Amino acid sequence: MADLTISEVSKKYEFRFKKGLGQNFLIDDSVLDDVVDGAEVNEDDFVIEIGPGFGTLTRALLRRAKRVCAIELDDKLLPILEDELKEFDNFELIHNDALKIDFDELIGDEKSVKLVANLPYYLTTPIIVKLLTGGYNFKSLTIMIQKEVAQRIDSEPNCKAYGAFSILVQYYCDTKILRLVPPTAFLPEPKVESMVIRLDRLKEPKVKVNDEALFFSIVRKSFNMRRKILWNSVKDIGIPKEELLKCFEKANIDPKRRGETLSLAEFALLSDEIGFIK
Ligand code: SAM
Repeated sequence: MADLTISEVSKKYEFRFKKGLGQNFLIDDSVLDDVVDGAEVNEDDFVIEIGPGFGTLTRALLRRAKRVCAIELDDKLLPILEDELKEFDNFELIHNDALKIDFDELIGDEKSVKLVANLPYYLTTPIIVKLLTGGYNFKSLTIMIQKEVAQRIDSEPNCKAYGAFSILVQYYCDTKILRLVPPTAFLPEPKVESMVIRLDRLKEPKVKVNDEALFFSIVRKSFNMRRKILWNSVKDIGIPKEELLKCFEKANIDPKRRGETLSLAEFALLSDEIGFIK
């Protein structure tokens, strides 16, 4: 069957796009190729796609992967996907909210698991947090997301975009922006620009910390009020002030610095020193 365009499919099935579900469907084939190439999908891969829409990206993935499982929330899209992708026997469709999926159960014994998705904007942060902190066996996530969020994920200390979310993602992954995608690549056109970014899951977190919960709590406190110096952000962490000062000294970090200047390694040092006292 010849591939139909997005507007042909929406006419054929009388489909109405739902803004609330972030339904901006990809219509630019060059972006599609860049996503699949960027994810380096091959015949050994089990690919999980979140939000297949009309199945445009899904079809490209099915042609390269061993197996593709797509998770779609909109029940109106299910018969369309089943019809459009009926020629593929390596396709599985799950009707659910991606935030409610037990990915361990879905992945099972699969060894080479890649997540590829043109994510609805509203879902970006919660799904990344779930996928990274859930300890699932993903090799990589190749995702299309809002440009500013991709830049935040990929940024370094002293950059405006650097924050707690950058550290969370970089703790678990190497990050690489693959390309910019203009609003004209979608139907309907979103108001913002997008980027394709690949997150390669590390075997071990980028820095070793004794207490992850404490590490992330210090990171969050340090970015809660960006203009505050570190000392003011963490002074109520629950240890005597003179002990806290010693922790800064031992970690070789000036308490007058702002959180946005600290690398992951420096946050790890500081959190371990505080952890020894706590
Ligand atoms: N993959 C298609 C494409 O690139 O053309 C569609 C991408 S569109 C940006 C996002 C898709 O995610 C839509 O199909 C939407 O219905 C679906 N979606 C929205 N919220 C979802 C959720 N919580 N779980 C699973 N799918 C969701």
